[in-house]
Amino acid sequence: YSPLAQADPEIQALIDRETYRQFRGLELIASENLTSLAVMEANGSMFTNKYSEGLPGARYYGGNEVVDELEVLCQNRALAAFHLDGAEWGVNVQPYSGSTANFAAFTALIQPQDRIMGLGLADGGHLTHGAFTPKRNISASSIYFQSLPYQVDPATGLIDYDALEKNANLFKPRILICGASAYPRDFDYARLRKIADLNGSYLMMDMAHISGLVAAQVQNDPFKYCDVVCTTTHKTLRGPRAGLIFFNKTKESDIEKRINDAVFPACQGGPHNNTIAAVAVALKQVNTQAFRDYAAQIIANTKTIAKVLSSHDYKLQTDGSDNHLVLWDLRPLGLSGSKIEKICDLAHITLNKNSVPGDKSAMVPGGVRVGTNALTSRSMKEPEMEVVAEFLHRAVQIALQAQEESGSKKLVDFVKTVTEGEGASRKALQQ
Ligand code: PLP
Repeated sequence: YSPLAQADPEIQALIDRETYRQFRGLELIASENLTSLAVMEANGSMFTNKYSEGLPGARYYGGNEVVDELEVLCQNRALAAFHLDGAEWGVNVQPYSGSTANFAAFTALIQPQDRIMGLGLADGGHLTHGAFTPKRNISASSIYFQSLPYQVDPATGLIDYDALEKNANLFKPRILICGASAYPRDFDYARLRKIADLNGSYLMMDMAHISGLVAAQVQNDPFKYCDVVCTTTHKTLRGPRAGLIFFNKTKESDIEKRINDAVFPACQGGPHNNTIAAVAVALKQVNTQAFRDYAAQIIANTKTIAKVLSSHDYKLQTDGSDNHLVLWDLRPLGLSGSKIEKICDLAHITLNKNSVPGDKSAMVPGGVRVGTNALTSRSMKEPEMEVVAEFLHRAVQIALQAQEESGSKKLVDFVKTVTEGEGASRKALQQ
């Protein structure tokens, strides 16, 4: 008996198709993952029904005795997952997503029109780190705050800390933001702290992409240096879709209240308790040896993909990766990221087009981002990654062939002809 299939077969059918799509294909989107069935069960639980504006023990609604226990448990698991001492660090587990977590952190730390500095969008930063285009401010973080992005060094692809320091000394940001959405290397937190201290800036890390790797201690530890650390819970952390804000309580006595007030009532209403339950389940899983092994395997898998692609002489941003993603620069081949994304889609390989530093326009991204978190969740290891990387190589070969041969023929038709042709010859061989 399935209540959903009975009440709404149309939605059930879409869920079935999406489930099939996720398991049939190869998921290489660096910001996604395959969360556990236990997490999904909690996410679809009775906690969905409950309103609980406020904090444990201080709610604006009755009937929250169970929710209070849930939220405290989730907070404790969040601190434990990142090896934090509750006397030094606090956490708010209510943000609905990474974007709202970041905005709530800004709201807590600074005033409208104050200055922020984050890694530029085209250089791998996230929209919420102050992104704007020459035409307009595209993010609330650039609409309500003055933003001066910093960049990577075009020669190495690495964050140009010297230029960052020089500009920060002039711009004097109130918050220096680190963290990224498409940066394949780790961060120099000691250097960032020094720059922040020189300018009286808060140092805020948005570890959304790498939080699972940080928890597993296979990346540098931002908590040693940062004032505030935000994250999503659904990327390498492998939980449901939500956000967390960690704050260091040792420097400013009112920071806890400012962060909590910024989440509610400043930026949000009632917490999504079903999601908090699911986050708590994921955080329990994170604090296990199995998860630490998983995180180490993500890195080994990414390095394998980078090695195989490099062996075919492709250009990777920073020539490799230390985390869960590679940023593949397709411009030397005269191909756009959109084309490769499209061809991979046709082959049930899901990845995303991505700007690479130096792109003339964000509308025509010159690369693709390839992440290994989801495939590693499917227990794939180095040998499987070698096969996946060869598939990607094949996609590029098809794109180049299409460019050369198809003339005015549409890419999709061309790919179909090639793959149907290959299918026919495979069948002939089998016979
Ligand atoms: N921060 C970073 C670094 C991200 O990469 C993302 C999303 O990809 C976000 C924040 C936003 O998270 P959400 O989509 O949950 O709002």
